[in-house]
Amino acid sequence: MNITTDKTALNKLGVQTNIPLAQYTWFGTGGPARFFTQPTTVAAYAKSLDFAHKQKLDIFVLGQGANILISDSGFDGIVIRPQVSVIKIVSDEPEYSLVQAGAGTVFADLITYCLEHDLTGPEEFIGIPGTVGGSVFINIHYYDFLLSQFLVKAEVIERATGKIIKVDFDWFNFGYNQSRLFDRQHYLVSATFRFAKTTKLQTAFNKGRSVEIFRHRTKRFPYKRTCGSFFRNFAKDELTNASLPNPCIYVAFYLDNIGAKGTLSVGNAGVSYQHANMIVAEPGSTSQDIVQLARLMQQKVIDRFNLIPRTECLMVGFDKYPLLQP
Ligand SMILES: Cc1cc2nc3c(=O)[nH]c(=O)nc-3n(C[C@H](O)[C@H](O)[C@H](O)COP(=O)(O)OP(=O)(O)OC[C@H]3O[C@@H](n4cnc5c(N)ncnc54)[C@H](O)[C@@H]3O)c2cc1C
Repeated sequence: MNITTDKTALNKLGVQTNIPLAQYTWFGTGGPARFFTQPTTVAAYAKSLDFAHKQKLDIFVLGQGANILISDSGFDGIVIRPQVSVIKIVSDEPEYSLVQAGAGTVFADLITYCLEHDLTGPEEFIGIPGTVGGSVFINIHYYDFLLSQFLVKAEVIERATGKIIKVDFDWFNFGYNQSRLFDRQHYLVSATFRFAKTTKLQTAFNKGRSVEIFRHRTKRFPYKRTCGSFFRNFAKDELTNASLPNPCIYVAFYLDNIGAKGTLSVGNAGVSYQHANMIVAEPGSTSQDIVQLARLMQQKVIDRFNLIPRTECLMVGFDKYPLLQP
């Protein structure tokens, strides 16, 4: 019997079929996953990868869906949404603690845990939605802070073998919007961060500061039905053919300049009136609306500046990359 059509065998593995994914993404768009599972233990995580491997299925590991656009036709493989979310202090030193968090931990819970234990660091990223897995994947950033500044080691699961491997900071090859997890040969199981100890008084200050960072963010950016920045900033070497003197790296500068903010829209998806690099998908939007809008934004920047904005948002389930490419 073919296990992929045997409901009892799939149930035993905790695998569901034909699950709509829109409910699991911040855009709220996209079609179904052919197979879907939410492993709550590391063993179940490994089993779901083994199932995918044996059945030769494409794999997509999903966090909170805060940085992805899923195609309207969905994902013709297995979506694994790890729920391994234990947070614990694994080493307690005079100046700092090492805190381990499972890949499925909601990043906001890690911040709360650290504030409760008089530790500082993760609150710099308050208001950035996502899991620890998705955050390590892209190395989340806010102003001067990158998550890689705090990560010391991790456990990853190898796609081909299902083996759990202990890796250190260097293994990740972190950069801006970059980590070795992009090779999709390994998936995060847990990450261990080094966070500095603080006094109760400093913690009180950090709590106040994080409320203020959150307020500052949500006043300036949309917080619902978006993936945050849709395009990434340019690397310096991508600006050599720009048709203006002294081009800057900030993609929002160019999008502002073409008048995208609050004006460009396709179907029910529009560019936020608050930020030129954020697309908001109002209810009723499709992923195709978002794709068409993003292509329009790209074309306008190409026409005026001879530069092609490239996506920070990750495209999932498309037959081919749906936007314009250099
Ligand atoms: C309102 C808003 C504001 C934002 N602001 C910022 C910001 O200021 N700075 C910033 O850096 N980002 C920002 N983002 C983007 C987003 O929050 C981050 O990229 C976040 O880390 C995504 O995490 P996630 O769990 O939702 O990942 P998902 O969107 O679910 O997935 C993103 C990628 O991570 C991979 N992934 C997820 N879990 C794992 C795992 N366990 N192992 C391996 N790979 C995994 C997925 O396969 C996918 O490729 C913002 C997004 C929104 C909606």
